[in-house]
Amino acid sequence: MQMEFFCFLIDQKKEMRRHRPVAGLCSRCGAAARVADMKTATRFCCVPFYFKHWKAIICTFCGATLKSYG
Ligand SMILES: [Zn+2]
Repeated sequence: MQMEFFCFLIDQKKEMRRHRPVAGLCSRCGAAARVADMKTATRFCCVPFYFKHWKAIICTFCGATLKSYG
């Protein structure tokens, strides 16, 4: 009997690749919000098998996501 079935772990790693200033203020803290290119890697047993790239308007000060684009 082996316990290796506990390997069924799926996790996601979210990464901000780069960002640039955008005209707009965070609705939570009033700091400047930015457009960020985000990357999400979905991993199965620590092996990435799905990547998703998306854009979001985020506040780098408080971390709020104000808007995201597919
Ligand atoms: Zn904010």
